[in-house]
Amino acid sequence: MRKFLIHLHLTIMTKINLLGYTLSELEQLMIDMGEKKFRGGQLFKWLYRDHQTEFELMTDFSKELRKKLDDKFEFKTPDLLQTQVSEDGTQKFLFNLADNLPVETVLIPDFGSERKTVCISSQVGCAVGCKFCATGQMGYKRDLTAGEIIGQLVYLREEFGLDSFSNVVMMGMGEPLANYDNVVKAVELMIAPTGMMLSRKKVTISTSGYSPKIKKLADSGLNICLAISLHAATQEKREKIMPIAETFKLDKMMQTVRYYADKTRTQVMFEYIIFEDFNDKMEDVLALAKLVRGLSCKINLLAYNKVEGLDYKRPSDEKMHWFGGQLAPRVPVVTVRKSRGRDIDAACGQLAAKQKLGSKIDV
Ligand code: SAH
Ligand code: SF4
Repeated sequence: MRKFLIHLHLTIMTKINLLGYTLSELEQLMIDMGEKKFRGGQLFKWLYRDHQTEFELMTDFSKELRKKLDDKFEFKTPDLLQTQVSEDGTQKFLFNLADNLPVETVLIPDFGSERKTVCISSQVGCAVGCKFCATGQMGYKRDLTAGEIIGQLVYLREEFGLDSFSNVVMMGMGEPLANYDNVVKAVELMIAPTGMMLSRKKVTISTSGYSPKIKKLADSGLNICLAISLHAATQEKREKIMPIAETFKLDKMMQTVRYYADKTRTQVMFEYIIFEDFNDKMEDVLALAKLVRGLSCKINLLAYNKVEGLDYKRPSDEKMHWFGGQLAPRVPVVTVRKSRGRDIDAACGQLAAKQKLGSKIDV
């Protein structure tokens, strides 16, 4: 008896995700579809300003165009896998990227003010390998695309509305300046006047000190805020905790930071984690004050957040207070930043996406 083999051909149409497309890319897309260029601008507003992701509801397009768009494209943020809320109101979001890698975003409400800061990631893991940081310990997996970076913000606005955050800091997982092109593209989307409309003053990039890219950012014209993870005020001490200091030396880095401040006319912020018995003495106060002399800047002191398996020690509140008190008269501005979300591992340097992917919890 003859057997017939039936081959079933399934054609699966995967739609192209427009998340991360810039205004000029959307204009080009419309031109390629035989439409006028300005249609790209209309689409840009729908997607990034109005958070309308249903092409059928884009009322200033013809029915035909809406159908064509819907057939080919989508605008989709990464899948949310888990959320955790800290007792202080800080919220952590764990996203699952298309290739099943995890990435984390932290939303930090500031009680008593309108300010809500969202801390976004720029890479999965980090290659810089600072010795005290949980993200550094997980190693580098890959860069996020511009779509995946901006997607963290688009997700929050789609879910919780336009006021879900007021300030953006790139202090999540990864070294933003090691993923320069995607980060810059994402920043352009954040500040686009017909898009997400964030003020440049409310967007901060934090870097461990990639001098050449700090220079490039200064020359880019973006004029956003810059935070430098300093943590030690001498070359010798910095090298002990941050391997990047061997490549980009402290004196050169400081020259570039001064260049950034001059060029962009912004006040640079230095982050200085205090580690008990490492950088917490009077000599450190004096070295720090000397390093920033003459520079319009702000120094943000943070207490080290304990990372499992690492030997660094968290200083006492008294020590933080003492250090801040000694530094204050010697530099323009000092603030002591409160750790937020420590109970859910959402505080600075604790992001390591420890949760197992594949199981949905708490969403
Ligand atoms: N890679 C960038 C941005 C992400 S890290 C950078 O290093 O600047 C965000 C901030 O958290 C940095 O200042 C970083 O040094 C700090 N940090 C890392 N581990 C920490 C920890 N365990 N406790 C407190 N701050 C930490
Ligand atoms: Fe990377 Fe920043 Fe952590 Fe250093 S502190 S390992 S640069 S994420």
